[in-house]
Formats: sequence, structure tokens, C-alpha cells
Amino acid sequence: MDAIFKNLTEAQQEAVAHVDGPMLILAGPGSGKTRVVTHRIANMIHQGVPPWQIAALTFTNKAADEMRMRVESLAPNQPVWMGTFHRFCAQLLRRYATMVGLQENYSIYDTSDSKQAMKRAVLAAGVSTTHASPEQIASAISHAKNRLTTPEMMQGLALRPLDALAAKVYPIYQQQLLTANAVDFDDLLLHIANLLRENPEIRGELDSKYRYILVDEYQDTNLAQYAIVRALSIDHPNLAVTGDPDQSIYGWRGADLNNILDFEKDYPSVKTVRLEKNYRSTPNILRAADQLIRYNRRRKAKELFTDHPEGEAVILRMFEDGYQEADGIADEISRAIISDGLKPSDFAIFCRMNALTRSLEHALRSRSLPYQIVNGVEFYQRREIKDLLAYLHLVNNPNHDVALMRVINTPTRGIGNRTVERIREFADYNAIPMLEAARRADQIEGLAKRAVTMVNKFIKLYDRLAIKATASLEDLIRYLVEEIDYEAYLEKTAVEQQDANPMSNVDELITAAVEFDRQHPDDGSLEAFLEQVALVADTDAIDGGTDRVTIMTLHAAKGLEYPRVFVIAVEDDLIPHKRSKETEEQFEEERRLLFVGITRAKEWLQLSCCKRRAVRGDVRPVIPSPFLNELPLDEMKRIESTGNRDWFDSEDDYDQSYPDSWDLPDEDVGSDQVCKTPSDEPAIVAPAGFEIDEVSQLPPEELAAAMKPKKKAS
Ligand code: ATP
Ligand code: MG
Repeated sequence: MDAIFKNLTEAQQEAVAHVDGPMLILAGPGSGKTRVVTHRIANMIHQGVPPWQIAALTFTNKAADEMRMRVESLAPNQPVWMGTFHRFCAQLLRRYATMVGLQENYSIYDTSDSKQAMKRAVLAAGVSTTHASPEQIASAISHAKNRLTTPEMMQGLALRPLDALAAKVYPIYQQQLLTANAVDFDDLLLHIANLLRENPEIRGELDSKYRYILVDEYQDTNLAQYAIVRALSIDHPNLAVTGDPDQSIYGWRGADLNNILDFEKDYPSVKTVRLEKNYRSTPNILRAADQLIRYNRRRKAKELFTDHPEGEAVILRMFEDGYQEADGIADEISRAIISDGLKPSDFAIFCRMNALTRSLEHALRSRSLPYQIVNGVEFYQRREIKDLLAYLHLVNNPNHDVALMRVINTPTRGIGNRTVERIREFADYNAIPMLEAARRADQIEGLAKRAVTMVNKFIKLYDRLAIKATASLEDLIRYLVEEIDYEAYLEKTAVEQQDANPMSNVDELITAAVEFDRQHPDDGSLEAFLEQVALVADTDAIDGGTDRVTIMTLHAAKGLEYPRVFVIAVEDDLIPHKRSKETEEQFEEERRLLFVGITRAKEWLQLSCCKRRAVRGDVRPVIPSPFLNELPLDEMKRIESTGNRDWFDSEDDYDQSYPDSWDLPDEDVGSDQVCKTPSDEPAIVAPAGFEIDEVSQLPPEELAAAMKPKKKAS
């Protein structure tokens, strides 16, 4: 009991002690909101609440893991449900799949699967992509789903031109998903929200099963998430949410600030607790954050203060270009490790998009500084992993058309694109899955005899695999690799793919399967494994136990903290992002994103930008972010790496507009999940459950020696 209330302020204690009834914890960054959530769970159990009646919902797996660890230390071995919204819904959906027209073994399409499915739906809808790309249509449909808009509802709305196109594709896309017995990420939430709305009995059952619900980072909930927690807190309104409106950064994904602002209206009997003090950062850092966020008009003002000593001035640094920026940062990290006794894991580097990290990687690597890029999905996006997983998906769910299209001619077995097209058309025409269509290849008009033979061979292979579905995962994957002679295929194609050792990734997948078999001796189904893989979010890759510099997007940094933080490329058109400047709302969300980045720092912070930046080979002039002028510049330390112009007055020297080719693919906007780095060497990433040993882990003396000759005078 002591442990639960020790080291908490009075306000925090008050929040922790509260058990029954709705509660809202509203407070700024670093004020102990997440700490309160974990202590509160421990206290509820201590007060006699059965742990299985508690569900704590987070946005990232990383946040859930951390929560689990903290609760474990206060109240060991308690079966409290902790995890992401998506995982929560995925599990419920397994149970109620048939209620929404799916089968229990439904598949979760990842971003790239959904993209494939969307292309097919756009084609089938006969929508021209001259004015809107499939990505834009996908994003409009995703938005609709997050607002709980069904295909039928969308037809009836007064629509922007893009939405009108999306409204045509949406029902077809949705029907194709159902035929494939699959859902996309948004569907996980959408199906459960609908299920709860349409089935009062199930709603009531789940409401009393999950009597106590806690949501951290509530400011980022969208309408679907709101509807879900609301529906589960009617008979037992023990819903506790924490949040900070100033840290709402997922508007582009449908998050609705009103969910938190209206909480007091939704639950009139709510107990509201405000936490005033920041325990994370120095006053210097907090003042920078505070001054910046004051420029947002749509906010309730609140003070950020701390008892910590002043600390070092926040640094604002201008570099000539991205390479110099990367070198400067790597040098600074080396210097601090040598002279200040810090560890690589004390540092984090944040950027707007992962696409900016390439030169950083190079600079860190050349100084033998161990680092990790937080982008866990990357491992699962490697072609060899996607190939094998696609086979597993198809074994688990024969209706998984995206998987079928991937594997039907991988490894190459003489089934050409035209044949696949025919099969797809036949499937579309008869509204059947493609595997089923392939089984009836001899009925498909215009298929050459040879093609039919090849397709039949593939079907036989599939049937052999399907028999193995109940074997252990390890056995299944090993059998698969053998059966399709995958190693030989990889060897043959490795050169054109410029991949050094793809087989080692296959081995990693097998290691993960072995680990999964070990952890799930009884319930380790193929389906559960695939679900786990599908729900890996980028932040899973953070491995707190290893000593590495962390590189991640600003979005992924939410909720985390580091002693020393670099925010790079604080430049106009990046932050605020070029495509998030149209409305004041978007602009303010960009400001909040920078605010989130700044408030991750505990003791030291550097913001930097460049005069020029190379984008896809073109070097272009850069304008500093307008947000920089909103910082308390007078008290900050400003460094310009070369030259001595006061660059804040010199914006006019630059070309004010970026050429259009600066445009990045749609998904890059704000997306922490899908940005990719075209790196010359594979990025060092450690997806959940994987050991990475390629990272240089030199002892400090060797590290220092290795870094010295390369150190530059700045
Ligand atoms: P964010 O909004 O960024 O998610 P938060 O409000 O969730 O921040 P926490 O992460 O819970 O804040 O806490 C910030 C830091 O302050 C953590 O390192 C936490 O351990 C520490 N902390 C919180 N409350 C106290 C306290 N009463 N005494 C000492 N340290 C505290
Ligand atoms: Mg937090």
C-alpha cells in the first residue's frame, strides 16, 4: 500500500485513491498522468476490485508494455487487461466475428495489404484516378470509418469531390474485405463500435465484464474509440481518462479534441483532477514549450512549472545542410558520451518523417555509435518476410486475396500476370475468393492449358500446406520454406534485390515463431500469431534494455522521455508540414507536434534546421520553421555553424516556395507507421521479440577511440 501512495503529490494521490465513478485527469506533459494510471490500477486491486474487471487502453504497444511493467512492480501477477485499442478490438472481434459478417479466423490487413485491396476496389469501381490517387481515396475512406460513417451514410452526404469518389469506392472496398474475411486497421474499431451499438445484450455483457476502464492519452481518441469506451461505461460508468489537449496530434487520423473537452458534459458526475507540476523537464525547456504553445488560439491556457534547477539553455542551431546537421549531432553525442559520462540511450533524435534519417544513420554509424530507428513494422515489410507471412495468411484464411496474389507466383512458377488477372476477374464476377476461383481454373475462359496446369500445381501445394496448419508454427514455417524451395529462390533473386542476407531474416522469423510456440504452449494458433504480427506498431521496436541512441518520428515520441533530445529539420514545409498548413486547425496541430517533441526532453534540448537540404538528390534552399520565431529566442543559445549572419532575419534570401516534387507520398504526412527510409544498409531495427546482434556495442574506451579521429571542430 505504501508503495502505491509513496512519491506522489497530493493531487496525484487524490486521483489514485479514486475508485468508482468517472474521472478526468487533465494535465500538461510530464506531470505524472501515466504514473497516476499505473498506481491507480494497483490501488484498485488493493481495494478489492477483481483484476479481470479492469481494462487499460493505450495507443501504442510500447505504452502498454511500460504500463504492464509498472503495474507488475506495484501489484505482481494480476490479470489486468492492458493493451492498445486495436488489440482490444481484435480480440473482441474474434469472439463476435460472425455478428459482423466475418468468420472467426478473419485476417487483419496491414497498411500495404490494404493498399493492394484499395487499388483493386478503385479499379472495380471504375473511378478515374486522374484527380485523386488511390492513397487519397484510401485516406478519405479511413476518415469516414474513424467517424463511424458507413458506406450507405457516405452516399447521402453533401460531399467534397474527393469524398464523392471515395463514396463510390467505399462499398466495393468493404465488400471485398468481407469476401476476403479480412479487416483493415480502421475496421477493428468500426466493427466493434457498430457491434456495441446494434446489440444491447452484448454491450451490457461487456460493460459489466470490463467494469473499470482506463484510457491514457485520451486527447487522441477518434469518434470510433470514443463510442467504444462510452458504450462500455453506461451501466458501470467507471471510466477514467487522462489527457492533455495540447498534445493532441492525431487529428489527421480522425482524433477529436472534443472527446476530452466534452468529457465533463458526457459524465456530469465526473471527478476532475488537475496536476500542476512538471516532474520531467528543466525550467528552460518548459519555458520554450510554454511560449510556443501559447500561440495556439484553440486551447485552455495552463501553466507549466517545475521545481527543477534552471538547467542548460535550449539550443537552436543552424546548419549548412542535412549532412552537416547529421555530423554535428553525431559529434555532439560523441562529445557528451566522452566528456559528460552519458550513455547512447540517453539521447533521442526526433524528426517529422523517417525519410529524413538517412544521413543521421550514416553519421552515427561512422562514429560507431549504436542506434535504433523506431520503426518496427519495417522488419515485417521485408519482402522475404511478407512472402512467407502471405503463405501463412492464406493457410489461416483461404479467402485472403491479397495474400493469394502475392504468393501465387512467388517463387516464380510460370503463372503470369494475365492469368492472375483472369482469376481475379472470375472471382469478382462470381463474388468468390480468388483461391476458390483458382480451384476452378479449368472453367475460366481464355486460360491457356499450360496456365491451368500451373495453377493446379499451386492448388496442390496449397492443400499440402493447409494440412500442416495445426502443426507448431515452427514446423509449419520450416515445412513451407522447404516445400517452396525458398532459399534457392532467394539466392537467385538476392542480387537484383540488393539484399545482403535475406535468409537471416527468414531465420529471425523462425526464431519469432519458436518463441511464440514457447509462450503459447496451449493457445498458440497460427491465427493468434498472425494477429500479433499484424498489430505490431512502430514503437514496439524500442528496446529500453539496450544502450542505443533512439531515432523516431515526433508522433512516435508521444508519452516518452529522454535526458537529451534533438529535434531535427525544424523547417517550414516539414513542421508545419507542407500539406498541413491549409487550415488554422492543421497549423495548430503541427505546433502541438513540436510541443510534444520539446516536452520529451528532461535536461537538454537542441532544435536544428538547415539552410539547404537534399531531397531526392536535389539540393534546395530551406526556410526555417515559423515556429522557431515563437520560441523565447533571447534566452536560448543560438549557434550558426558557419557564417555569422543572423539567419532569423534572412528569410527573404530564400526562395519562398518549394518545388512540387518535394511532395512526399500521402502516407508520409504525419504517419509514424509507414514512412520508410531508403537506406543503403538495412536499418537496425529490433521488432518485438527479436534480438539484434549487428549493433556495435563497443566498451566506452573503444568507443571513444573509434570516434576520436573522426571528430570535427565545429
Ligand atoms: P506525458 O503527458 O508526456 O505523457 P505524463 O503526464 O504522463 O507525461 P509521466 O510520464 O507519468 O507524465 O511522468 C513524467 C516523469 O515524472 C516520469 O519520469 C515520472 O516518473 C516522474 N514523476 C511523476 N510524478 C512524480 C512524483 N510525484 N515524484 C517524482 N517523480 C514523478
Ligand atoms: Mg503520459
